[in-house]
Amino acid sequence: MEYSKLVEIYEALSGTSKLLEKRAIIAGFLKGLNSEEVESAVLLLEGRLFPEWDRRKIGIGTQTVIKSISTSSGKSEDLIKADWAKIGDLGLVAERNISSKTQSTLFSGKLTIDQVFTNLRKLSEIEGGGSTGKKIGLIAELLSASSGVGAKYIVRTCLEDLRTGAGFGVLRDSIASAFDVEVANVQTAYDLTTDISSVAKIAKTKSNEGLLALELSVGNPVKVMLFKKSESIEEGFDVVGKPAAIDYKYDGFRLQIHRSGKEIKLFTRNLEDVTSQFPDIVKMIEKDVNSKEFIIDCEVIGYDKKTGKWKPFQDISQRIKRKYEIEEMIKEVPVMIIVFDIINLDGENLISMPFGERRDKLSKVIREDPLAVSLAKEIVTDSVEKGKEFYAKALSDGAEGVMMKKLDSVYKPGSRVGYGIKIKPVMETLDLVVVGSEWGTGKRSKWLSSFILACRDGNDFKEIGKMGTGFKEKDEEGVSFGKMTELLKPLVVSESGREVRVKPGVIIEVKYEEIQKSTNYDSGFALRFPRFVRLRDDKGLKDVDDLKRVSKLAKSQRSRG
Ligand code: ATP
Repeated sequence: MEYSKLVEIYEALSGTSKLLEKRAIIAGFLKGLNSEEVESAVLLLEGRLFPEWDRRKIGIGTQTVIKSISTSSGKSEDLIKADWAKIGDLGLVAERNISSKTQSTLFSGKLTIDQVFTNLRKLSEIEGGGSTGKKIGLIAELLSASSGVGAKYIVRTCLEDLRTGAGFGVLRDSIASAFDVEVANVQTAYDLTTDISSVAKIAKTKSNEGLLALELSVGNPVKVMLFKKSESIEEGFDVVGKPAAIDYKYDGFRLQIHRSGKEIKLFTRNLEDVTSQFPDIVKMIEKDVNSKEFIIDCEVIGYDKKTGKWKPFQDISQRIKRKYEIEEMIKEVPVMIIVFDIINLDGENLISMPFGERRDKLSKVIREDPLAVSLAKEIVTDSVEKGKEFYAKALSDGAEGVMMKKLDSVYKPGSRVGYGIKIKPVMETLDLVVVGSEWGTGKRSKWLSSFILACRDGNDFKEIGKMGTGFKEKDEEGVSFGKMTELLKPLVVSESGREVRVKPGVIIEVKYEEIQKSTNYDSGFALRFPRFVRLRDDKGLKDVDDLKRVSKLAKSQRSRG
C-alpha cells in the first residue's frame, strides 16, 4: 500500500481529539491491509519500527535530521535550524521545506509503506565509519521521495515523536474492531507477548482462537503483574484472603529475567532490555539459578560495598540508563537481586499455577548467595499480629514496606490486580514528567534549575506545578542541577528567554505538602511545595501518574481535613 495512504491516516488522527473517531479511522485503515502489511503498518501507526523491548533502536538525533532535511531540500543547515527555532518542530520544518517533490534516485514510482518501513529499519543497522553520512543519505532519499506532509511524518518517526494522539488503548480497540475480535483478547495477547503488531496480525489471520492460543515465550518480555495498595495488614488480609504470603517490599527496581540456554535477557518493567547494563547480574544468574530455561521476577537493589547495607533506589537508578564504563559502575554501585516470583521453569509456563506453588518451585531453583541472589524474605500466616510484627521488622531492616500475596492466585500479566497488595508507611508521592524548565540565574545560570511538572491525561500531559527544590549542588550528594540539565538538554524543543520546553522524557518522583485546585495550570491542580525525591529511570511515559490519581489524592486529603 502507498505510504500516502498512511499519511492520510496520520493527518486524520491529528485532526480529531475524539478517541472514538480515532478508533474508527484506524480500524477502517487496518481493514484494507493484507496480512503481510499489518505488522509494519501497526508499528508505524505507533510511530515505531520495532516492538518496544527490541534491542534494535532507530537512534536518530535532531542534528542528523536537520542535515537530512537540508540535503533533501537543497537549503542550508542554518536556514533549517532557523526555521526550527521559529517553529519548534522538525516535522513541520520538513513539511515546509520539502513541499516540492524533487527527483528521487532510490525510489521510482510511489513510495510504499513497506519501503518506508524497511528503509527506516535499515537506519538501525548502519554502523562504523561514515555511518552518519549514510544515515543522512537514506533519510534524505525518503524525504525527497515523499510529499511535504509525508516528510513531516518520516521526520517524526525518526525522532520517535509522532504526535497523532493515538495511544495504545486506541490502537488496541481499533484492532479489535477491524478484525472483529474481543478487546479483552487483544489485551491479554499483548500482555503475554508485548508486541501489538504481531497480535494484530494474529487477530486478522486467526481471530479470537488465535489470540487465546498465544503463550508467553522465554526471551520475549511479559507485562509484569502489579499490585494495589492497602493501608494496613488487616485491610491487606481482606483483599488477599487468609492465610497469605507476606514479603518484604524492597526498594529497588523490578527486573524480569529470561534465560533460554546460553542467552540471558534482562527487562525492566517498562520492557526495556537492560542486559548490557548489568553483566554482573547475568553472572549471578548463571551461577545461582539452577535451570537453563526460565523467567523470574525480581527486585534489583544496591548495597554499600563496605557495610553490605541496602541503599535506596536513587543510588542505583543511574545504572539503568548507563551505556558506557559499565565495569566501573559495577564496582562503584554494586547490586544484588531479590527474587520473588517465577513464571516459566524448564520451558513450562507457570502463569496459571497458584502463587504458593510457584514460590515453592522458585525456592528449589534458587541457590541463595549473599550479596548476589536471594529469595524475598517471606512468611505465610493468617495472623494479623504476626503480620504486623513482620511489617515492623521489615521497616526496621530497611525495607520499604511489605507486599501481601494471595496464595492461590495465578500470575496475571499487565494488571494491577488484587492478587497482591503493597503496604508502605509514607505519604503517597507522584511520578510526574518534566515538560518545561527554566535556566537559573547567578551562580546557577549554566543549569536548568526549575522544572515544570506534568501528569498524564490520556495520551496528553497536563501541567501541575513548578519545582526547584530537592536537588543537590554536586553530583556526589544526589541528583544535581547539572545532572538534570544533562538529561533535559537533548529533549529541548523550543526556547524563549530563560524558558525552555522539553519533550516529555524525564520522569521524577515528587513529594509535596498538598494538592490544591488551581487555574494556573491546565491540569486544574497545583502542587504546594513540590520537592524532588528521585529520578524514575525505571518508568515510562505510560507510568506517569494520571489526572484521575491526582484528583483522588486531592479528595482524600480533603476528607482527612
Ligand atoms: P512503588 O512506586 O511503590 O515502587 P510501583 O508503581 O513501582 O510502586 P507497585 O505495583 O505499586 O509498583 O509496587 C510493587 C513493586 O514493588 C514491584 O513492581 C516491585 O518492583 C517492588 N517489589 C519489591 N519487593 C517486592 C516483593 N517482595 N514482591 C513483589 N514486588 C516487590
